[in-house]
Amino acid sequence: MSEHTYESMHRFLRESRGSAVGRPCVAPGCDRPATGWGLIGRPTTIDAYGGDLVRFSKRPEDYAPLCSRHNSQRDGGGNWLLCPHGHVRTIWGATVKGYCRGCDRMRKRKPRATITEPPGAHAGNHAHSGTDTNTERRPS
Ligand SMILES: [Zn+2]
Ligand SMILES: [Zn+2]
Repeated sequence: MSEHTYESMHRFLRESRGSAVGRPCVAPGCDRPATGWGLIGRPTTIDAYGGDLVRFSKRPEDYAPLCSRHNSQRDGGGNWLLCPHGHVRTIWGATVKGYCRGCDRMRKRKPRATITEPPGAHAGNHAHSGTDTNTERRPS
């Protein structure tokens, strides 16, 4: 019985199923050519590869042709529909590197920055707008 590492698993895939490069990406609605075999199933193993920890599966059926964007998208976790933080992918989209735009925005946002509230979040809208310094009290 062969114990696959991350590297040997990908070699095995190429040898048994041929190269995935140039095949259509299996992600729904994606028409980009694949750049290699990507994990679409659940990872079963964690291995050290190139100084990084990689999650991979030893089951060949867990792999399918993926374009570079969807490959890194899957590496980040989540599923086709939602990113690991629950952003709907078709709404948020992805950065050039394949990361969720919603998460990207969360990362860039400062922790204490103002939270954009959806319209109607306030029960009673303030009649006047402008600089709202409501917590400031004038000394009497
Ligand atoms: Zn794709
Ligand atoms: Zn996200």
